[in-house]
Formats: sequence, structure tokens, C-alpha cells
Amino acid sequence: MQIFNWSYKDDTAKNNEVWHQNEGKFTLFEVFDHAYDAKTHNIDFLHIKRCQAEGCNISDFYPQFFDYCPSCGAGLLPVVPPSVQSWASPYGNPNGSRNLSALKWNLTTDELNKEKAFPLPKEGGNFTFLVTEGTKTLIAIDRAPRPEMRIFSYSIAMESWILHNESIPNFICPPWAWSAASGPDGFALPTKEGPCWISLSKSEGRFLHDLSIEKYKNCRSVGGATVCRDIALIPIESEEGLTLAWHACNTNTSWRIVSIVNKEAVEIKNGFLGAAIQDGVNNIFWIGERGYLSVHIEKEIPHAKWHRWKEGYEGCPQFMPYRDRHSVLWQLCFNKEEGYCFKQISHEGIYDRKIVDGPHFTIGNKSFCDDKIYEEPWSDESQDYYPEKEYFVQPLVELANGLLYIGVRNVNKILEYIDPKKTFKYSAELFIRKNEGGDVKVKDGFSITSPWDAEAFLFNEGLYLYLGNQNKSWVWPNIL
Ligand SMILES: [Zn+2]
Repeated sequence: MQIFNWSYKDDTAKNNEVWHQNEGKFTLFEVFDHAYDAKTHNIDFLHIKRCQAEGCNISDFYPQFFDYCPSCGAGLLPVVPPSVQSWASPYGNPNGSRNLSALKWNLTTDELNKEKAFPLPKEGGNFTFLVTEGTKTLIAIDRAPRPEMRIFSYSIAMESWILHNESIPNFICPPWAWSAASGPDGFALPTKEGPCWISLSKSEGRFLHDLSIEKYKNCRSVGGATVCRDIALIPIESEEGLTLAWHACNTNTSWRIVSIVNKEAVEIKNGFLGAAIQDGVNNIFWIGERGYLSVHIEKEIPHAKWHRWKEGYEGCPQFMPYRDRHSVLWQLCFNKEEGYCFKQISHEGIYDRKIVDGPHFTIGNKSFCDDKIYEEPWSDESQDYYPEKEYFVQPLVELANGLLYIGVRNVNKILEYIDPKKTFKYSAELFIRKNEGGDVKVKDGFSITSPWDAEAFLFNEGLYLYLGNQNKSWVWPNIL
């Protein structure tokens, strides 16, 4: 039997593959002069094709330059659809919004009944998910309490996880103080040894990381990562106190440091700031208990400032800010005499506050307190959202035709639910509340321990739910 070699190279160096042909069967052999290994390369990055005609093997793959199936002649289709609809971020888009009005749920009974288990990377872990910007690849970051983090990518073609890296220092912190952020051809994440940028080498199907803060040894990250105008930013604490590390994603330069205005007033009680939120006009905020850090990006350079809360007020960094109809951000704070209030935050400072009835979850432009929804957290015109049910509402993501939420039972106080030290399991159900009225049950019979226990994300036209306390995840394919 004769084996043919097919080499694909082009001048732009975008393709460099060698495939072997054994009669009608094609096998990828080499990628950029490295032997192809399904365990370390994600074949999805190569835009391979397959045949979906009846009678043909869907797990036979062909180079992207093939138009027709060598065995049946049908047109070949890309394994990864060119328009993958994806979204994965526990804290919403970079601007904190979990309202994706460009997308719609497909709520037919057929699609809802197609629920199946989605296998997680082997050996278990404590995962958080991310979808890369360019390649729309699903990334799982394992933050289980061990010295190193593990980074996996999911291959749609192989239906399997590929372990890329297990040498990134971990960062053990409360769940609200950690977030990764996707940028051009890579993503940023905080570690206990400082900020880390993971760049994606598409050609080789590999991830490379840059942990370079040579000048700032003994530093640790203290808040979530964000990417704004192709600049990755992560607050860090070094011998000089709180500073901000930033990295221009499109360059090979290492992380740089910005010093902070009002540095003398910085106080990070409990050691952490929250996840990052952007206001859409080049300002970024990290909330702490004693104050907040703001950054304004001007002419591709970040400028950072610390703002102290007024005496007697404490910020609640576990809660993301609420965004009003003018895109102004408001942060939940607590004061012994007044109770809870929202304080208007900006890069210039704090101007206004409004008292509210308790802690609110927000998804950007809506907020939720117990079983009520508010268009504005301080408005009296709230709706009784679940008057007849004993639910506490944890909103997840809203599409054009309905809100995905978890109905949590047997919980009276939001403070008890957000306390990561309490491990009580509440029984819970997953619903979509349709805009035209009525709930569609997506899943029941599971339990939840805190808001950070559940991650919902959209990937490859499907809805995914991950439950950390059970280390399980499910997918509803074709729900978008
Ligand atoms: Zn075929």
C-alpha cells in the first residue's frame, strides 16, 4: 500500500501542514515542521474540513483547501462553523453587561430535551471558562487549589480537551476577586506571582505564556484581568504597594507598570479588589472594601487613580456595578446607619449615592433583589418577579427574547448565599423567563452553594452550564 504525502505551505506562512494519504484516508502528519500530536495540538486552529453526507465518516478530516469529499464527492464543510456564536464570562462582557440582545434563544421542546453531559477535562478541577476572541476557542482554566493552574482548550473536531500548560502559578483568592479576559490572539489572567498573558500561536496550535515582571519580583495580583483597547490590565501589589500592570496585546513587549495617583490613601482590606469593569469610554474600575481603583486610557497609555470611600462606607466588591441608562456605573456599598446604597463611580470621583432596600445582583442594566427585578435599583417601580414562588433569583444572561436565571430555593438572605465560606447546598432550578411572559424550565434537580458555583456560557450555538460543587457540566446544543 502506498502512502502519499501532501504538503501545504503558502507564502503568508499561514499554512504549513503535511497530510498523509492512504487510499481515501487522510491523516494530518506535520504542522509547521513539528509532528502533529492530537494530545498537544488543537486541530480546530487549522480550519480543517469534514464530510457530513450520509454514509461518510464524520470523524474523517481533510485539509482546508479541499472543497469536495474524496470518497463521496459531496461538498466538505468546516468543522468549526465560521460564525460560532460564543460568549463565556462569569462577569459579563468587559463592560459588565450580561445582556446579549443580538442573540435569541431557540426554545422548542425538542432543543430543550437534547440536554446531555458535557465532559470536562479529566482528573477534575475547579474550572472557569473563556472563549478566545479570534479563533473562538473554548478555554477551561483549572484553578483547583494546587500550586499551578492548568489551561485546556476544547477541540470541536476531536470532541476532547487538550492540556496546553500546567506551569502557571496559581492564585488562591475569593471567587469574586479573579477573572480572566480575552484579547487579540490570547488572554490575560492574574496569578500569585503577578500578571500573565497567554498568547495563542495559531500556526502551531499552541499557547505560550509571558509572566514577565522581572523588575517586580515578589509581586502578586490583587484583582481581575481586563482588556481594553488591546491593552491588558491587572492590578498588582509589590514592595511599592498597589500598582497596575499593563501589556499591549499586539506587541512582544513585556508587562509595564503604572503608578497610582492618591497612592497614600490606598488601603486594600482583606487583600483583594474585585473583577474589572469598563464603562465603554476607556475607563476601567476595580472595587475594594475601602475604595476603588480607576484607570483611564488615553493615547494608548493607562492612567490610574485611587478613590477612597467616605468614612463609614464599605464597598461590596462581590457585587458588580449597576449600569444606568446613561452608562454611568453605580457600586453597591454598605453603611451601618443607612444600610445599602449605590454610589456613582467615575474616574474623576464619587458624586452621588442612592439608598436601596438590600444587596442587588446586576446583569448590567437590570438589577435583582431577592425575588424582584428592578430597571433601576432605587426605583419604587420594581416588579414582583416571582410572587407565587419561593425563589431567590440569580440572573445569568439575557438574550433578545428571554432571561436565563437560576431559581435558588430555601435561602432567606443574600449575604448568606454570597459567603464563599458557607458550603450549604441550596436546591435550584434553571429557567428562561420569556419576554412575552412565562418560564421555560431548562433543568432541575441540582444544587448550588454560591453565585460563583454556576457558570453559564454560550459556545458553538449551544448553552452550557457548569456547576463547580459537582464538577459537572451540561450542554443544550443548537439552543441559539
Ligand atoms: Zn463524503
